[in-house]
Amino acid sequence: MISVRDGQQHILAQVAAAVPPELLPVTRALARVLATDVQAPFDVPPADNSAVDGYAVGSGDIPSAGTRELAVVGDLAAGAVFGSALRGGQALRIMTGAPMPAGADTVYPQEVVERVGERVRVGQIAKGANVRARGEDVEAGGIVIETGSVLRPQEIGLITSLGIWQVEVHRRPRVALLSTGDEVAEPGTPRRPGQIYDANRFTLRGSIEQCGGEVLDLGIVPDVREELRLRLREAAGMADIVLTSGGVSVGVYDLVKDVLGELGTVDFWQVAMQPGRPLAFGRIGATTFFGLPGNPVASLLTFMLFVRPALYKLAGRRRLFPPTWQARAMERLGKKTGRREFKRGILAFRDGAWEVRTTGPQGSGILSSMVAGNCLIVLDEDRGDVAPGELVDVEPFTDPL
Ligand code: AMP
Ligand code: MG
Repeated sequence: MISVRDGQQHILAQVAAAVPPELLPVTRALARVLATDVQAPFDVPPADNSAVDGYAVGSGDIPSAGTRELAVVGDLAAGAVFGSALRGGQALRIMTGAPMPAGADTVYPQEVVERVGERVRVGQIAKGANVRARGEDVEAGGIVIETGSVLRPQEIGLITSLGIWQVEVHRRPRVALLSTGDEVAEPGTPRRPGQIYDANRFTLRGSIEQCGGEVLDLGIVPDVREELRLRLREAAGMADIVLTSGGVSVGVYDLVKDVLGELGTVDFWQVAMQPGRPLAFGRIGATTFFGLPGNPVASLLTFMLFVRPALYKLAGRRRLFPPTWQARAMERLGKKTGRREFKRGILAFRDGAWEVRTTGPQGSGILSSMVAGNCLIVLDEDRGDVAPGELVDVEPFTDPL
């Protein structure tokens, strides 16, 4: 038996480096992982500018009491530049985003002044009010986005605000995906008696894509030794990771381990966890191999625990594990010590606190428990039964980037 943590550490130690980078236009870089820091080539904003529509003045013209009339010497739109400098007694009508003219350091919002023909009457205001300072968003030379960050829409926008239109990002790790088992049928085709439709290849496919991987779907392989050998060798030749489900337990037709022993170096682990015990991990040539269990909840859960961090590391991401929260258990939870248990939970915020309950039956074939749930309840190895009201760790099903 191996613990979840030791398994994760062993796997991450074997996944050496991220896949190589490529240069992409920003329009194709969404959800990719940055391979070099993005630095600001200039200050953003590049000049002091007005935060409101109003009147720019020099602070020497702010009256200390009462009001004062100033001559309006022009009208400055965003995108235009005032050619000369403001002198004492002058104000410039200015639009939001227009650069501050020389000689001005304060802007009156137009709602607080009184315009009288070519003059404007102003009162008290703080020196420097309503001016956005040059460089207040980003300073020239500063690192704006760090290597290993996932590019969300806001990162892309910040990059383009610097005038940059292409970025160095890691290519997407390629994951070859296979289901194994004579009983597994392709959805959309007729099913023979005794067969079940494939669930795992589709939960895993979506999971790989959500993690930024590229799926090479190699379909279903029957429990036939020679065919499995061919398909696994072919898979290893085309991908960074090969992922199978089924065939790693101790049944007569669980051939994955035999065949892998012939093709590469593979360890078979009994992981001290529930659900999901059997797991195969190793290499075929330069390709990392994961053999996940066949039961649908177990295969998805072992993907989350073992494949996802490895895929993130290959993709070049900085953060490999999701955050854990705490919530109050609303029911009794049976728990065996000596293994880590993962229950599917429903997390809700009620009366000022986070509460969690299970989704009902927790069998490792009950995929509807993953559908009903919005989190995992994670109960550590040394923990026993949980009484209602105790705090437990929860891991929300979120984080599609
Ligand atoms: P195995 O590990 O191959 O013995 O499979 C364990 C259980 O998972 C069996 O009940 C299989 O029928 C089921 N199973 C295996 N592969 C899949 C799959 N791709 N989709 C749904 N269930 C599966
Ligand atoms: Mg099988």
